[in-house]
Amino acid sequence: MRDMQIHKNTSLKALNTFGVDANTKYYCEIHCRDDIAALLDWKAANKVTENMPNLLVGGGSNLLFKSDYEGLVSQICLAGKDIADENEQYVYVTAAGGENWHDFVRWCVAQQFAGLENLSLIPGTVGAAPIQNIGAYGVELADCFESLQAVDLETGEVFEYHKSACKFGYRESIFKSQMLDKLLITSVTFKLIKEDKNPEWKMDYAGVREFLAGKEPTAALISDAVIALRQCKLPDPAVIGNAGSFFKNPVLSLGEWQALKADNPNVPGWEQANGLMKTSAAWLIDQCGFKGYRQGDAGVSEKHALVLVNYGKASGIDLWGVAQEIMASVENKFGVVLEAEPRVL
Ligand SMILES: Cc1cc2nc3c(=O)[nH]c(=O)nc-3n(C[C@H](O)[C@H](O)[C@H](O)COP(=O)(O)OP(=O)(O)OC[C@H]3O[C@@H](n4cnc5c(N)ncnc54)[C@H](O)[C@@H]3O)c2cc1C
Repeated sequence: MRDMQIHKNTSLKALNTFGVDANTKYYCEIHCRDDIAALLDWKAANKVTENMPNLLVGGGSNLLFKSDYEGLVSQICLAGKDIADENEQYVYVTAAGGENWHDFVRWCVAQQFAGLENLSLIPGTVGAAPIQNIGAYGVELADCFESLQAVDLETGEVFEYHKSACKFGYRESIFKSQMLDKLLITSVTFKLIKEDKNPEWKMDYAGVREFLAGKEPTAALISDAVIALRQCKLPDPAVIGNAGSFFKNPVLSLGEWQALKADNPNVPGWEQANGLMKTSAAWLIDQCGFKGYRQGDAGVSEKHALVLVNYGKASGIDLWGVAQEIMASVENKFGVVLEAEPRVL
């Protein structure tokens, strides 16, 4: 049996892609089921739930630490992936919560399993992907999601969640709301279609079709297109600290949308299934002049108005200050309230 270590006063700088220099009071790594059992024992013995917060971290690519974390941070390092089941048309692939998301997508692509290719190059882990129902290039995780397994952090009970129980929405799920910090997602199963069984390729988004230049689509070609497009548009967190899009695209009622459109005829909008309209947070922020804005070491990417960046020594408070300036400015100019996409702690 592995002896799980609980470390005291550990730096989180390498554990958040903003590169913010914050510490956690306690830190451990979860590599296997025994580590989960040891974590539950330690939590019970140290009254974590009553006296101390408890945070699970995968790749730290959707977190902003405004201050030191006065609790226990557990990094999920569970590894492994396998084909759980298959039939003539579909394959069910299960990956452990600590698997790197992009490596997993590329593995599926290499096996000619289609469905996740549009989600290439999103940082983070498999276990965190359902939390905000990650999405990009016209696809969301929910489109290929079959089920997940999770351990209740209070009782140690294991639960299986099927799609309808996850309450997936736009960058939302039950794990980001009611069940936040209550469950450790140990594995996720995806239903993927075999590439020779006519997958419905999603190419009508932000230059994917143009990148293919008339070639017959394959999961590998679409994945390559998405990677190339993302590399042009988004700053690499290995080079400059960021958490991808910092704001969600606002979803407006028809009345709010019509009022916005009447004053701003060029504002982009996309109809939603429920009669609501989604508009572009990037467009609104750009109109307020924030692209390339900088306040000390905290700023907005020159490549993308939605991406807050840490030029070096920005603290979480510095970055949150810029976020608040942007939110106030957009609300003042357009009457639209922006919501942060990453978790702000
Ligand atoms: C450059 C860049 C580009 C990005 N592009 C996109 C994009 O296109 N689309 C998109 O949707 N997101 C995008 N993101 C955001 C981010 O990559 C995703 O949200 C990703 O799923 C976060 O994974 P993570 O492992 O880093 O999670 P973390 O940041 O470590 O954690 C995020 C949340 O998940 C919880 N969590 C983590 N692991 C588990 C687990 N095993 N069980 C239970 N809870 C857990 C944490 O407690 C936290 O609440 C981008 C980020 C960056 C830096």
